[in-house]
Amino acid sequence: MAGEPQGDCLFCKIATGDVPATVVRSTDTTVAFRDINPQAPTHVLVIPRAHYPDAGSLAAAEPLIAADVLREAAAVAAEEGVEGSGYRIVFNTGAGAGQTVFHAHAHVLAGRGLNWPPG
Ligand code: 5GP
Ligand code: ZN
Repeated sequence: MAGEPQGDCLFCKIATGDVPATVVRSTDTTVAFRDINPQAPTHVLVIPRAHYPDAGSLAAAEPLIAADVLREAAAVAAEEGVEGSGYRIVFNTGAGAGQTVFHAHAHVLAGRGLNWPPG
C-alpha cells in the first residue's frame, strides 16, 4: 500500500528508530534529524514517517503530510536560530539531481553563505 514502510529503506528505519539518528524534532507524521555528512553548519533532514520515494509523489498522495514536512523544516530553522540569516529547503528529486535516498526528505541548510545557483 502507498506510504507503507519499506524494509530496505534507510529513512523508514530512522523513522522507526531501528537505525539511530540525532533527532531534533518529531511529530506524528514527521521526523527531523541531523544529516550524517553535513554540508553546512545547520544541515537537518525532515522526512515524512510514510514512505514515498520523493517529495512530488508525497505531495500528490498526502498533501497534508507534505505540508507538515514544510512546516517542520521552518520549525527546525527557528529552533536552530537561522530564520533571520536565511536558510534553504532543498528536495533533490531523481539520481540525476543528486538524490541518493529514495524516501522523500527536505534538506534544511543554513549557517554559511548559500549562493544560487551553486558553483
Ligand atoms: P539526498 O542525496 O538523497 O538528497 O540526501 C540524502 C542525505 O542523507 C545525504 O545528505 C546523506 O548525507 C544523508 N544520509 C545518508 N545516510 C545517512 C544516515 O545513515 N544517517 C543520517 N543522519 N543521514 C544520512
Ligand atoms: Zn522509506
